[in-house]
Amino acid sequence: MAKSSERWTNKKSIETYNIDRWGAEYFSVNKQGHMIVNPLQDEGPSLSIYDVAKTANANGVSFPMLIRFQDLLRHRVEKINQTFQEAIDKYHFQGSYRGVFPIKVNQLREVVEEIIDAGEPYHFGLEVGSKPELLAALAVHQDPESLIICNGYKDTAFIRLALLGRKLGKKLILVIEKMEELQRVLDVAKDLEVEPLIGVRIRLQTKGTGRWALSGGESAKFGLSTSDLIETCRILEKANMKHCFQLLHFHVGSQIPDILTLQKAVNEAARYFAKLYQLDFHLNYFDVGGGLGIDYDGSGTSSHSSINYTLREYTRDIVKSLCKVCKEENVPHPTIVSESGRSIVTHHSVLLVEAFGAIEKTRGEFIPASSGDHDLAIEISKLVTKLNKRNRRESLHRGLQIKEECATRFELGLLDLHTKAKVETAFWHLAEEIVKLFKGAKQIPEEVIELSEQLSDQFLCNFSVFQSLIDHWAVNQLFPIAPIHRLNEKPTHDATLVDITCDSDGKIDKFIDFEDIASTLPLHTVNGKPYILGLFLVGAYQDVMGDLHNLFGTVSEAHVFLDDDEAEGFYIEETIDAASISDVLDEVQWDAAQLSRLMKMKIDKAIKSGLLKPKRGIMLLSEYEAAIKKSTYLDLQPRF
Ligand code: PLP
Repeated sequence: MAKSSERWTNKKSIETYNIDRWGAEYFSVNKQGHMIVNPLQDEGPSLSIYDVAKTANANGVSFPMLIRFQDLLRHRVEKINQTFQEAIDKYHFQGSYRGVFPIKVNQLREVVEEIIDAGEPYHFGLEVGSKPELLAALAVHQDPESLIICNGYKDTAFIRLALLGRKLGKKLILVIEKMEELQRVLDVAKDLEVEPLIGVRIRLQTKGTGRWALSGGESAKFGLSTSDLIETCRILEKANMKHCFQLLHFHVGSQIPDILTLQKAVNEAARYFAKLYQLDFHLNYFDVGGGLGIDYDGSGTSSHSSINYTLREYTRDIVKSLCKVCKEENVPHPTIVSESGRSIVTHHSVLLVEAFGAIEKTRGEFIPASSGDHDLAIEISKLVTKLNKRNRRESLHRGLQIKEECATRFELGLLDLHTKAKVETAFWHLAEEIVKLFKGAKQIPEEVIELSEQLSDQFLCNFSVFQSLIDHWAVNQLFPIAPIHRLNEKPTHDATLVDITCDSDGKIDKFIDFEDIASTLPLHTVNGKPYILGLFLVGAYQDVMGDLHNLFGTVSEAHVFLDDDEAEGFYIEETIDAASISDVLDEVQWDAAQLSRLMKMKIDKAIKSGLLKPKRGIMLLSEYEAAIKKSTYLDLQPRF
């Protein structure tokens, strides 16, 4: 990489990290080289994320820290509702829009409450898929006009709780995922003397695309076939409960990358809706499920980490397709329901991790070999000093041979450590220079690309991929990553990121790039001061699906609100402590108090047997007891 002294501007950083492409007008870089967030896009002020981190840290929030921008969350809720309304107006659609937030996408109470609050003017409701989610929804849901949609498999207890919600006057719809559930719903409804609102998830022929494609199509885990649907109609008619059938639901998978998939699915489902109407089942709601995607890599394509459509196109396609089918089939327009989770919560949270060191390949200083050195060291040293554009490839091949020969001789006991170190240091310098000589070449040989990947540094970061970025590990999802400061300084390293788990998979070595996927990220030298990286677009699924690998627990949080009255333009409404060591031990059945007792017994024994002085023993025990109450992450105490 080029020297850090080269002129560099915030604009170059915006380009380097593709911020304009994935930032969706929520993120940019200011003149001071700080990453900024515009929670209300161009309708409000911007905040330096670095300044927010500094304030949060001063308030006791330790790294890694998750910052939630609550205004951004509200903005997303408003945006989705308003964009649907615009599409409805444009096509003179007679029905309305009633969105619901699927709690599984981010179950944190403050997140759900913020969404409910922001969605109140639009009667925005909730979607649940399990008993815990249902219990939470029943308690926090207020607006009798908004919906609670119950998806997922349901036992009798689930159905009873849901129907108790009906007794409270809630518009709660039980979506039948499997035929057996229907009779169960009818039985419990009879027992509780309450009229159920019933929905059916239909198994469409349209298959999704992208990473979550298996949620749709004929082999999907959920949903009824066409013959099951007819049987449902028969059962409801027989029970005199045709009017209870209110909603038709489908879901072709989260993060639909290609708009054509959505168009096909809406068309197919709209036909079901119309045909049901013609069979005298007058459903009120047409539920398009989730799937509204996010352009994580900023490419605007149908690649797995992107989408080839905008929110406006998504809403217009749904409304337009429905209008068309309803017109053709001569049926009235329904109320449109969507269950967008990812699109609402993805942008609002940023994970900040500290890069605290680097493992560099070319750490040793290259000193040309002298006449007393080993032949191999002299030869490779000459390759470095005589390297030029014409002999670059030949020098690489000879350099690789010398390195190999050096390793073989060392294994046979024929070479000393000093020579091995000299040859290796010279080789990595040679490699670095060769990669530089190929920079900008029209065709870069595969072996040079491989070499440049091997040359990349590894930046050590204080976090766990398994806890905080699970989809990167599990499904190769790309997330935008960039430093949140020093963005007016030229990055001088090409690096991958490694976390602090003892697992070689605990790394990030795929990054978004202008055209392709990059194997390294441009970063600055870690210079003893805090160097903070932002992992962006992590608000959906990541913080709720993370696991306790190596017993690294949940991270600390700060919930930030814009406020003109504050000098900094914001305030931190709430902070949440990271999970303590005792919390994570407890999750796997280790009781902290019992562990301390066992430790005390061991220390007492060591003191009695003279292994340990009493004072040291007491110190050890108090350090053990203090540590168990602290965070699971490294306590690096960055000083801003
Ligand atoms: N609804 C259902 C039934 C789902 O299974 C999901 C997630 O896969 C969602 C809604 C949320 O989808 P998304 O986060 O893509 O909006």
